[in-house]
Amino acid sequence: MKSEQMKIPQATAKRLPLYYRFLENLHASGKQRVSSTELSEAVKVDSATIRRDFSYFGALGKKGYGYNVNYLLSFFRETLDQDDLTKVMLVGVGNLGTAFLHYNFFKNNNTQIEMAFDVDPDKIGTDVGGVEIYDLDDFEEKHMKEITVAILTVPATVAQKIADRLVAAGVKGILNFTPARLTVPDSVRVHHIDLAVELQSLVYFLKHYPLDSPQ
Ligand code: ATP
Repeated sequence: MKSEQMKIPQATAKRLPLYYRFLENLHASGKQRVSSTELSEAVKVDSATIRRDFSYFGALGKKGYGYNVNYLLSFFRETLDQDDLTKVMLVGVGNLGTAFLHYNFFKNNNTQIEMAFDVDPDKIGTDVGGVEIYDLDDFEEKHMKEITVAILTVPATVAQKIADRLVAAGVKGILNFTPARLTVPDSVRVHHIDLAVELQSLVYFLKHYPLDSPQ
């Protein structure tokens, strides 16, 4: 994101890719304007929050007209640096890592997995989803300096050791899919996604906080 837009609250910034994806779909279907209610139903964010989010970048919709799709889209494209491709690497080509390599992030985001690492000799040197798998032993040599974002899908027991190596090589962002809680310097951002915990939490909420069924 561009530095002059850094004053947008973090919670708003987190929702921007969500808005962007939906607006792209609207644009592709030829829609010119959208109301905050329509947006709200589609992205499941309440319309007051959407109006407040949009007010940070001056996109105040007119009553009875809504928001101009093209205006919002070009704003988001610039804010989210959608014209710049961000190259990413992945460490750990197991079940989850393999799925990510096959999943084309590029379709929805301007991020692309460029290289992957593993320690399994059966995987090293192969190509998964068009991405070459390198030996983690050669990490410091193969790692491209411009890649500062890494997806971590290794066993939890080795996650910290690998994170230390990533950080030493200049990685600034780690998307951690392992259950391990990583310790990194303040200058490095870790987003932690523990799928097992997420699933468990959904089941717990369904059981203890059931939502009202429609009449
Ligand atoms: P997943 O957790 O993705 O379902 P899995 O059950 O297939 O994976 P795991 O044992 O979790 O396998 O390992 C994930 C991947 O991480 C495997 O491809 C494994 O070879 C790799 N791996 C294991 N140890 C390391 C390490 N120290 N460095 C890099 N990769 C590793």
